[in-house]
Amino acid sequence: MSHSPISPTPAGTQRGPAEYFTGTAWVTMLAGPNPTDCTVGDVTFEPGCRNNWHSHPAGQLLVVTAGQGYYQAKGQPAQLLRAGDAVSIAPGVVHWHGATANSLFTHLAINPNVKQGVADWLQPVTDEEYRAAHG
Ligand code: MN
Repeated sequence: MSHSPISPTPAGTQRGPAEYFTGTAWVTMLAGPNPTDCTVGDVTFEPGCRNNWHSHPAGQLLVVTAGQGYYQAKGQPAQLLRAGDAVSIAPGVVHWHGATANSLFTHLAINPNVKQGVADWLQPVTDEEYRAAHG
């Protein structure tokens, strides 16, 4: 029986691209392209950091590993997330995720069927939208 280990990409930890994040995020791909067509990234958001509104053509799972943050789907209240929480995001649902104003936030981002595309990026989450998430 053969076994193919999944290796991190050689790129290591990279800063989240400024065009898709407000504030500072750090992304480490734990499983890049592989035969399952599913990628796993470890993403840490510094306090106040969040990604833009976006959707995933094949959906996404988030598994929170540290800190506190938010997930918000368009038109829905923001959900406060803590270590151990998981979020299942259906294909095409517009949403954002990120840290609270005062906490780091780390999650695994699991993206299935990436041949369909990883993300469709939209506009930044405004300060007003972000403040509203804090209730
Ligand atoms: Mn997402």
